This record gives sequence, structure tokens and C-alpha cells, in this order.
Amino acid sequence: MSQQLSDRINSLPVSQTLAMAAKARELKAEGRDIISLSLGEPDFNTPDFIKDAAIEAINQDYNSYTPVDGYVELKEAICEKFKRDNNLTYAPNQIVVSTGAKQSIANIAQVLLNPGDEILLPAPYWVSYSAIATLCEAKYVEIPSSIDSDFKITPAQLEAAITPKTKMIFFNSPNNPSGSIYSEEEYRALAKVLEKHPNIYILSDEIYEHINYGTKPFSFAAIENMYDRTITVNGLAKAFAMTGWRIGFIGAPQWIAKACTKMQGQITSGTNCIAQRAAITAVKAAPEKVQYMVDEFKTRRDLVLDLLGKIDGFNLNVPEGAFYVFPDISAFFGKTIKDKEIKNASDFSMLLLEEANVATVTGEAFGAPDCIRMSYAASELQLREAIKRIKEVLS
Ligand code: GLU
Repeated sequence: MSQQLSDRINSLPVSQTLAMAAKARELKAEGRDIISLSLGEPDFNTPDFIKDAAIEAINQDYNSYTPVDGYVELKEAICEKFKRDNNLTYAPNQIVVSTGAKQSIANIAQVLLNPGDEILLPAPYWVSYSAIATLCEAKYVEIPSSIDSDFKITPAQLEAAITPKTKMIFFNSPNNPSGSIYSEEEYRALAKVLEKHPNIYILSDEIYEHINYGTKPFSFAAIENMYDRTITVNGLAKAFAMTGWRIGFIGAPQWIAKACTKMQGQITSGTNCIAQRAAITAVKAAPEKVQYMVDEFKTRRDLVLDLLGKIDGFNLNVPEGAFYVFPDISAFFGKTIKDKEIKNASDFSMLLLEEANVATVTGEAFGAPDCIRMSYAASELQLREAIKRIKEVLS
């Protein structure tokens, strides 16, 4: 029988972050000494106070289906969190808990986008934004930026990218992959442009909120006249080292939250009961409880910037948040290293994998073809060794 997959899946690109992580795992299993700086995943364990809450939930026999949009106690705790950290007022009926922020984003796209709608992606952007748009048969429009503007877009660029078909824009600050953070002032300037276009919705992905090195991120929905058309996305994976627990959530206008619940009700139902009970404890905890991880990430960021900065051809910005560096490595394009011609960032990333045994992710996957992404959510020992190997290959 012929294997006929749908056009939908055939047109969907593979997630480059996950693909590179899988490749690194595969090579490791073959016995290669790979250092993986590909996946954006804290290398810490989930804090004990959260694990204890999960164990207690199991012992209390939490084992049934959960409400599709999440336990009410969790939604209430999320409302308190939004008030405490973001000065945003949401009611529980504006909250939807999902299986990771990725599902939250996919829900939003599914309930708001029609085929042919345009969605604006300030580049660099996380790999799955464009794929999720493609899945909705929407057209994604990249707004480019470069290291010279600290990987941020300007109001003039935003204005120029808007057409009558523009339905949404995705913001992400602190940004994956650049680590840049938009200041309140910069966000307000972008909002001024959006004010003139009342039919555009904003998705504000704030998943790296707590991983910042002094510049407190600003929530787009906190801009008075943007609240009614902004969906705030967040989750527990990054700040609480809970990537595998899969808890994401949104705060949104109620009609959008209701639509997401309807979507989720046909696809996954409510997310895992144990993870949700533990999430109540995590969301209620003061962010200071996980500050030790952020402090450690900052030390590693400084180390990586220092070491990579000594390699000719690595052009770096200073990331203010998240746990990635995103060097512009276009200085290597056109060169031949170890008999390999480097035409683009993918070639460079493959060179590092094959010759230095270091896994990174090509910037092409993030709409920034001059760069590669390196996660520094790895031990200091691994980071030092990885950069030493890279230096050797390039010298
Ligand atoms: N968000 C992380 C990353 O960018 C995890 C992998 C993924 O879901 O893309 O590496």
C-alpha cells in the first residue's frame, strides 16, 4: 500500500531544536563524546518543594481526568502570579492551562488564524512559531533584525510589515534565541503602531520571564489599550526546571480562552493531574526561590561570552535573559575548514558537530541565517570543553 500522508504534515518542517537534540543523543549512543548545547533545557533538577507536592498528589489519589482548562485552584494561583509578577489582572475564566507553552501557542494559532492570514514574526524567533503558523495555513512574515540592533525590531519596521491581511504578531521577550529583552519603552513604541491597527492580535510569549540578569521583562498586556487583544503565554518549564512536566498557560480575553478550551477539549483534554497539582505549588512560590538557577546561568553566560569572544569570527551581543548565546558567525561563510566548505550557518553548525563533537542549532531555523544558537544550560566543565574544541577546529 502506498504511504500517503496529508499535505498538512508533508508541509510541516521538523523542529530543528528537537532534531538536533535527537541527533546528539543518537551520536552519544554510538559512543561519540558529544557535548549538546542544542536543546533549551535547564540542567537543574526540579526543586524538592515542587516534587514533594507531586508525590503528595499521587498519594492523595489525584488520578482522574482534569477540567479541560485546568484545576480551578491552579487557575486562581496563576491569576495571583499574573498580578504579583506582571501587574496583570485576569480572572480564572481567562486562564487556560495546557500541555506546555507550545500547546498554548498552537491553541491560540488554531483559534485565531484562518488560511491566508498573515502573522508577523520579529526575527530571530523560536522555531515552532513559523511551523505552527504553517499548520494553520497562515503566511508568516519575518521582520528581520540583526546583532546591530541587539536583535530587536523598530516601530518603523513593524509599520512597514503590516498589511490588510495581518492578523497577529508574536512577541517573545526575553527572546529565544537571542536573549534580548524589550524594555517597557520599546514595547510602548511598538504598541503605538499597533494602536492604529485595531484588528491585530498580539501573542506575548513570556516563558523566559524569570531568567533575566537584571533587566526586568515587561508584559505587553500591561499596556492599557493592548490588554484586550493580547494573549500572555507563560509556563513552568524554564524557570522551575520542569521541562518534562509539560505545564503551560495563557491569560487572555475570555472569548479567546473559551475557544482554546474548546480546541483543547477535542485534542488533549485537561493536562496531567499530578503535574497540575505540583504546578499550584510552583506558581505560588516567590520567584526568589529559583533565583539560584538564574544566578548560575548568569555566571555561565559571562563565562561563555568571555571564552567565545576570544575566537575570531564570533560576533556576540550580550543576552539579557534566557540561556542562549546567538553569535553571528557569517565571517566564516565562504571559508573551507577541515575540507568542508562553509556556505551558511547550517554548514557551520554541522562542522561543529562533526569535527568538534559540539551540537548547536543553526540560526536558519530561527529566521536568522547569519547566526547559530548555543545553549549555556550546561555545566561549566562542559561549556569550557565545548568552546576549547570549537577553538581548536577553527584555528
Ligand atoms: N524551547 C526549547 C528550545 O528552543 C525546547 C525545544 C523546543 O521545544 O523547541 O530549545
